Amino acid sequence: MATRLDGRVVSKKILGELKQTVAKLAQQDVTPTLAVVLVGSDPASEVYVRNKQRRAEEIGVRSLMYRLPEDTSQMTLLAKVAELNQDPDVDAILVQLPLPAGLDERAVIDAIDPNKDVDGFSPVSVGRLWTNEPTVVASTPYGIMALLDAYDIDVAGQRVVIVGRSNIVGRPLAGLMVNHDATVTIAHSKTRNLKQLTREADILVVAVGRPHFIGADAVKPGATVIDVGISRGADGKLHGDVDDDTVAPIAGALTPVPGGVGPMTIASLMAQTVALAKRRLHG
Ligand code: NDP
Repeated sequence: MATRLDGRVVSKKILGELKQTVAKLAQQDVTPTLAVVLVGSDPASEVYVRNKQRRAEEIGVRSLMYRLPEDTSQMTLLAKVAELNQDPDVDAILVQLPLPAGLDERAVIDAIDPNKDVDGFSPVSVGRLWTNEPTVVASTPYGIMALLDAYDIDVAGQRVVIVGRSNIVGRPLAGLMVNHDATVTIAHSKTRNLKQLTREADILVVAVGRPHFIGADAVKPGATVIDVGISRGADGKLHGDVDDDTVAPIAGALTPVPGGVGPMTIASLMAQTVALAKRRLHG
């Protein structure tokens, strides 16, 4: 039976350590500050933002919330981003995506100061990732690497297959994996013979967004399987992309949904906010 990679336990430990770091920073008059901009009232975004704020409060990170109405213009949103870029008390800026229709997401991301871009979505951060320079990276991939590390699963030399090529999961994770000496393949909806490919993976990461998309016939026995997907089923429960019932008996390690990658994502956001704040100490 697969080892459960427990994101709740690992993230709790990380948040506990961060709380101590934040307390030490406070002694040096630094309060890590995360500015969150939420445009409109998308229910899922409301939940994500609330969770981020709660975690921030728990560890002593100051979180500033900016709620803008659904009909906010591009100019007003860009002006808010510019104001936060200039604010010396703000270490990290997060504009919650997706933005309401009519707003240009790319232009907004591009407007965030790369040195405050805690989501790691700006072209500068992405470039730094792919040139293997120190940078902030998207929280979900960062959290996946931290979870593997916590269970001493070394990715160096491993064959990694990532299903999904989004800018928030698949692509940045591929960059991190390459930087950690893994041999990486990214698969997507146009990939041929997907199962043949996924069966070759020592580490299989699935970020598609379709419940039970990966069954035991798509997994190499003993492989580490990271299930990023979260979908709410007709039963009201959360489901991952991996069919837990059939994959858990043959995988070497597997993340549960919920309680795997999800909690690691928020802990990673906090870790990177604190890392950005630490730079204030060095001028
Ligand atoms: P996207 O919809 O942006 O990307 C989905 C990817 O899956 C695309 O690259 C798409 O391919 C690929 N795909 C779709 N169908 C197939 C198929 N039949 N075969 C192979 N690949 C396919 O999703 P996200 O990356 O934003 O999120 C993925 C999932 O992860 C969602 O369930 C989301 O809720 C969850 N998630 C969870 C997080 C967490 O903290 N746990 C954080 C972020 C996301 P193509 O590019 O060709 O369209």
